[in-house]
Amino acid sequence: MKATNGAICCQSALEAKLLCPHCGQPGRRVALQTLKHQVKPKHLDTVETGSFSFCRTATCDVVYFNERGTVLTKAEVRQRVGLKETEDPVPICYCFGFTEAMAVEEIRATGKCAIAQRITAEVKAGNCACEIRNPQGSCCLGNVTAAVRRATEVVVAEKSGASA
Ligand SMILES: [Zn+2]
Repeated sequence: MKATNGAICCQSALEAKLLCPHCGQPGRRVALQTLKHQVKPKHLDTVETGSFSFCRTATCDVVYFNERGTVLTKAEVRQRVGLKETEDPVPICYCFGFTEAMAVEEIRATGKCAIAQRITAEVKAGNCACEIRNPQGSCCLGNVTAAVRRATEVVVAEKSGASA
């Protein structure tokens, strides 16, 4: 079954949420297909031992956890999880490779950031693969919007620092 990204976002919001055993925050359910593409090879069987959720807490090392208390940390997934990284490269879009540093650069150079629009265009053209590329298994646009807001604040702070 292939749903649109919008449908996946709304669907996961309605599901009952498990709490991360490490930070206690509610997670978001992740499809088995996503997990298979994200975890290191030795955990390919682990992800079949229950329904896993993604932990969105930036400071929490746990990426995935299931209802039995099994956790998979940052060290056990194959790529950097943008939400949990503060040093460059901090990925914000896994389908097309945009990072937070790129957003900062673009705002420094042009005063604005069109990354979200470019991603939206690619999504509309059917070129995204959020279900397998994004560790959250859902569309990255919400994260991108938040990252662009942070990047804007960084550049504004730079400018006010320079003029002071
Ligand atoms: Zn957590």
